[in-house]
Amino acid sequence: MGKVDKGIDCSVEGCLNKAVRSLAFKKASEAGLKLKKESRRVYLCEDHYREFKKARRSMDKIERMRWKPW
Ligand SMILES: [Zn+2]
Repeated sequence: MGKVDKGIDCSVEGCLNKAVRSLAFKKASEAGLKLKKESRRVYLCEDHYREFKKARRSMDKIERMRWKPW
C-alpha cells in the first residue's frame, strides 16, 4: 500500500477525484470496486479507499466464518 503522487486520478469507474492511495488490482477488484481498466496497480481516492477498507473488513469476517465454523 503506497502513497500516490499528486495529479493521479482515482481508478474507479466514474470517479473524478484525485487518488491518495495505490494498491494491487487484484485486491481492489476482490473488494468489489468497479475499475476503469485492468492494470497491475490501481489508484484510489480518499472515498474509495475508505470503501475498500470497509469491503475488506466484511470479507475478512466472511472468511473467518467459512474457515472456523463453530
Ligand atoms: Zn474514487
